[in-house]
Amino acid sequence: MSNHDSPGVIALRRAGYRLTSPRLVILDALENCGGHTTAAELLQAVTTRDPSIGRASVFRTLDLMVKLGIIWTTVQGGSTIHYMLMPQGHHHHIICTGCGLRVEFEDCVLGTLVKSLEERFGFQIEGHLLELYGHCPQCRHKTPPSEGETLP
Ligand SMILES: [Zn+2]
Ligand SMILES: [Zn+2]
Ligand SMILES: [Zn+2]
Repeated sequence: MSNHDSPGVIALRRAGYRLTSPRLVILDALENCGGHTTAAELLQAVTTRDPSIGRASVFRTLDLMVKLGIIWTTVQGGSTIHYMLMPQGHHHHIICTGCGLRVEFEDCVLGTLVKSLEERFGFQIEGHLLELYGHCPQCRHKTPPSEGETLP
């Protein structure tokens, strides 16, 4: 781990937490998965980097990062928990309901909506997870037109 200044590391430091090895390894593993992974994938990636980091330590660290808003969790495709890095406070997907393909994108146009929601409900909004559902180019060719684009 040479570069400790990734957004996740900065967020941890800003929250006043020490950059212990499990924390750095987990952030590094998450960043190398494109900021989105399942618990099983993450455990494997962490073990590959540092076999001395145990399962319990991984989940304790994940809990902490969820509490700090550095990571969010979502459940997709049944019972699999997905961990998503969101040090900038947002995370966006398009998910294909046909094959489960997940596309990550960065563009965010929710600023105006967030402001108006804050005014309307009195919240201070700190982040969002945006998930759009539909059919990917491959599945569109298999899907009957009458069922297209309306799920869920
Ligand atoms: Zn994602
Ligand atoms: Zn698809
Ligand atoms: Zn956004």
